[in-house]
Amino acid sequence: MKVGFIGLGHMGGPMCRNIIKGGHQVVVHDLVADAVQRCVDLGATAGGSIANTVSEVEVVMTSLPMPKDVEAVALGPGGIGENARPGTIYIDLSTNSPAMMRKIAAELAKKDIITLDGPVSGGVVGAEKATIAIMVGGDRAAFDTCMPVFESFGANIIHTGKLGNGCIAKLVNNMVAFTNMTAAAEGLMLGTAAGIDPDVLDQVVRNSSGNSMGYRGVAKSALERDFAPAFTVDLAYKDLRLALELADELDMPLLLGPQVHNVMRMARGKDQGGENVTAVLKVYEDIMDQQVGPAGKNR
Ligand code: NAD
Repeated sequence: MKVGFIGLGHMGGPMCRNIIKGGHQVVVHDLVADAVQRCVDLGATAGGSIANTVSEVEVVMTSLPMPKDVEAVALGPGGIGENARPGTIYIDLSTNSPAMMRKIAAELAKKDIITLDGPVSGGVVGAEKATIAIMVGGDRAAFDTCMPVFESFGANIIHTGKLGNGCIAKLVNNMVAFTNMTAAAEGLMLGTAAGIDPDVLDQVVRNSSGNSMGYRGVAKSALERDFAPAFTVDLAYKDLRLALELADELDMPLLLGPQVHNVMRMARGKDQGGENVTAVLKVYEDIMDQQVGPAGKNR
């Protein structure tokens, strides 16, 4: 298929490169020239602008940081709405708010552009290996049409129902994952402060009922002192805010989500917004003035 891809960052870069390797004709666009070049080297065409990226393709995809970025690219001047042909299918792969996706879809429908929300899960490693889950909401026929593209960069492709449901599923997943991570940070700090060797504690928890993907991520960062960004604190903070907004719309009390959101806010307050989300551990380390894992490195 002919695909236009906008946003070639931690996730968009590897996802797009897998689409190119899958044999699709891809036009790419990003604000970062190197990110564009890596795709051009594999056979993509550089669009140079949103207009040139979306005007002659069948499917447009975006993978952008914040809902406001997606809104600007989709509905702003020179954006997808002004330049994509009628009949184009637009899929946002970002983690976005369901309300924002419904707003974008309603505007683009006026130009006969069909919108799907398709957030992804599996991290940078999953994006590189094409093993990510893609949770898609919206028109079933458009979903089926795009299946060859989805299959080129994902392994677990789920139609979640109506437009916005992909985002709902993703926000729930991430709220659970970040809650696990924050619990892991709190537990690792408690054990370390109480005097147990963090390596021994890790051996116990990863073989016991406290184990989870979130736990393993925080423990790995702690023990290797590696907080290099793959998924940033800033993005986790955004995702939690979107989950809280969703609960507000439904008048549903969330007890843990706001606490975890606040811990992320503390990490941002310590200028850790650009670090990996596992840097949530440092909030606890700073309070206790003690490090989990080998001393002296990366603090
Ligand atoms: P990122 O910041 O690494 O990449 C975003 C890219 O978009 C950058 O290359 C940036 O230059 C580009 N960009 C921003 N504004 C643009 C514009 N107006 N025009 C063209 N390009 C523009 O972010 P990421 O980590 O790849 O995350 C992207 C989305 O995917 C986010 O919504 C995030 O929540 C979600 N997500 C991330 C991960 C992860 O592990 N990083 C996993 C699942 C979902």
